[in-house]
Amino acid sequence: MAHRVTLIPGDGIGPELAEATTRVLDATGIGFEWESVVAGEAAIATFGTPLPEQVLESVQRTGVGLKGPITTPVGSGFRSVNVGLRQALGLYANLRPAKSMRGVVSRYEDVDLIIVRENTEDLYAGIEHMVGPDAAESIKIITRAASERIARFAFEYAVANGRQKVTAVHKANIMKLSDGLFLESCRTVAADYEGRIEFEDRIVDNMCMQLVQKPDLYDVLVLPNLYGDIVSDLCAGLVGGLGVAPGANIGTEAAVFEPVHGSAPKYAGLDKANPTAMILSGALMLRHLGYPDAAVRVETAVRDVIAEGTSTTYDLGGTTGTAGFADAVIARLGSAVAG
Ligand code: NAD
Repeated sequence: MAHRVTLIPGDGIGPELAEATTRVLDATGIGFEWESVVAGEAAIATFGTPLPEQVLESVQRTGVGLKGPITTPVGSGFRSVNVGLRQALGLYANLRPAKSMRGVVSRYEDVDLIIVRENTEDLYAGIEHMVGPDAAESIKIITRAASERIARFAFEYAVANGRQKVTAVHKANIMKLSDGLFLESCRTVAADYEGRIEFEDRIVDNMCMQLVQKPDLYDVLVLPNLYGDIVSDLCAGLVGGLGVAPGANIGTEAAVFEPVHGSAPKYAGLDKANPTAMILSGALMLRHLGYPDAAVRVETAVRDVIAEGTSTTYDLGGTTGTAGFADAVIARLGSAVAG
């Protein structure tokens, strides 16, 4: 039976990446039915909103979405579709693996980090207002329920994937109540895993410095929303940049898989952008759907093509286009039946 998946191609380079990714996933031999829905700039023109009800309804029904990046106007304008989707669908855990790849020039060769970012609250709760004409206030929301839920997700991920350690990242020395509650919640959950998974915490500024200098000291990181956003880009930088960084947004009823990067408008329609991050997000989706062997096949094919170096995109020093890279990955996948 074919898997029905909501496809949100997105803005900018999104549609080209979505096309490349669905071709690779189709080539695994697992049957997919892509239910394509429009969100973002194109949706504003047709529906008057960047996040039409049909998009939410589709993901709620299929339970799984594959999404390209969506442009978020800075300052005034519509609220972020990405934040809206995560909140509306209760996609509370943002999982962002950062793993070194042979053939991708970067500072280190053996980075293997898992970033688990809380996805529903913190400064992303969207509670902002002007306080008179010359001051603005954004409210940071941290709850025990959401903090314990994301900490448990991180520990369960560690157990399920043979990881050794979870590090909670915070600024509880300054935000004693909000970040203090996050840290306290992580400690509470950590107690349930004592003897199985190691636990430690780091202050976010020190964490950034240590990740740049000694990334091998870390394993699974769990962070509130804003630090998770920033630190996961730092980790993407450690393994070669945004073009190779996949992500997943996971909730209890649905999951949406998307690259970490944005819509890179300057490359839209040029068949230039690197589809690796979205293809690897597709591999995370395969694992989520219960096809770990197919996920490994896709990841291995991507890694092999990049390591070989003759069919890479501009950001990795090559001259191959988005579609050409996907063709090379499909050729590597061969015709083996999916696991
Ligand atoms: P960006 O990720 O689009 O681009 C940052 C840099 O990385 C640019 O130089 C870009 O060309 C390059 N880049 C990004 N993806 C690439 C790829 N696949 N291959 C090769 N190079 C790639 O970030 P930005 O410029 O800050 O944001 C552009 C828009 O995307 C903004 O509207 C932003 O809000 C939005 N955005 C969306 C998401 C999302 O949908 N999840 C995430 C981040 C940013």
